[in-house]
Amino acid sequence: MSENRGRKGLSEPLTTRLDGFGTTIFAEMSALAVETGALNLGQGFPDSDGPAEVSEAAIRAIRDGVNQYPPGPGHPDLLLAISEHQQRFWNHQVDPNGEILVTAGATEALAASFLALCEPGDEVVVFDPTYDSYAAGISIAGAVIRPVTLRPETDPSTNQVTYHFDEAELRAVFGPKTRMLLLNTPHNPTGKVFSPTELDLLAELCCHHDVIAVCDEVYEHLVFEGQHQLLAKKPGMTERTLTISSGGKTFSFTGWKVGWVSGPQVLVSAVRTAKQFLTFVNAAPFQPAIAVGLRLPDQYFRTFVEDLRAKRDLLCNALGDIGFGVHRPQGTYFATADIGPLGFTNGIKFCLDLPRTAGVVAVPSGVFYQQKYIGKIEPGASLIRFCFAKDKTILTKSANRLKKAFAQ
Ligand code: PMP
Ligand code: GLN
Repeated sequence: MSENRGRKGLSEPLTTRLDGFGTTIFAEMSALAVETGALNLGQGFPDSDGPAEVSEAAIRAIRDGVNQYPPGPGHPDLLLAISEHQQRFWNHQVDPNGEILVTAGATEALAASFLALCEPGDEVVVFDPTYDSYAAGISIAGAVIRPVTLRPETDPSTNQVTYHFDEAELRAVFGPKTRMLLLNTPHNPTGKVFSPTELDLLAELCCHHDVIAVCDEVYEHLVFEGQHQLLAKKPGMTERTLTISSGGKTFSFTGWKVGWVSGPQVLVSAVRTAKQFLTFVNAAPFQPAIAVGLRLPDQYFRTFVEDLRAKRDLLCNALGDIGFGVHRPQGTYFATADIGPLGFTNGIKFCLDLPRTAGVVAVPSGVFYQQKYIGKIEPGASLIRFCFAKDKTILTKSANRLKKAFAQ
């Protein structure tokens, strides 16, 4: 290899665009769970299958020969079902012909959006902490991540912790290089559900700076407090917003990797151009099955959120009794715990030790932060994240193990 190309040779083949991203924290912690036999409350996936009607539909599709490349935008019945779903739940109209694209999970919808819409050097505003694929996807596209910190605040009357951003900090980060706002609501890992007033402010900034919004709404059906609202519906936003979701979370089939992105035809078509050369198409027999899921009666969606609310409360109450600081989430299936009150400071070390000290796996929240230091403070250093999309007996068993290891 010629040296003047500035490459590092075969011993360090990874490009600078991917420098430092290594193995994802989820894969690392799940491997640790397998290695130690610990209960895995780390990576976000449910420990049971989703509705039988949905898996039966996939089996039927395989038997019926739905096994070749589906059409580029997606299986027509899934496109229709996504359009019906947006209307039914969010009163938002999207045309199944041209305004929706099926992707290999929300992850591909995100990556293809960055690749299709960002020039090298363009800036993408995100709220920090961020879901792990954001920084890597933005970097692969040659764009620059501009984080705005979400800070936990405790309401003294209820002791509830919720996350807030500083309006001046948000306004300051928008500028001539801003191409995109990447919003995740409900938000992983904090569990924050962005309020209507916050969405109004974000809409104002996007319109004023002529910015595209990409909204990751994979937890749209997991809202315990507040209300899920679409940034896409705010004034001036429909024509500049891409809305992303996935069948993984809502129907508990994370391994099928059926996601989608919807929005104005011109933006969706740009994303499709990128997607064509990433995976071309994906998940033929699973697409009509997810259509069955999206058309399930309201009762399914009600039971889904109520079941997870009960699990959230079971885990959060137990963590509080043990002595952790607890950030009970407004949405998602993740709860944040502060190890500070138990006398620990380093969440990464705590989580690496936890499988052996307690037989439980959690994820250190510090790894989700783009800003490693704000002043002298390392944000999220003492915070850890637990996934509660697990059987109640597993949650109770985990709580008992944590109690035995840490209760004071
Ligand atoms: N966004 C967020 C906020 C997530 O938590 C996840 C994890 N499922 C994804 C995107 C990726 O979704 P998918 O598995 O459909 O690619
Ligand atoms: N979204 C899941 C989480 O936050 C994990 C998905 C993944 O491992 N890529 O834990």
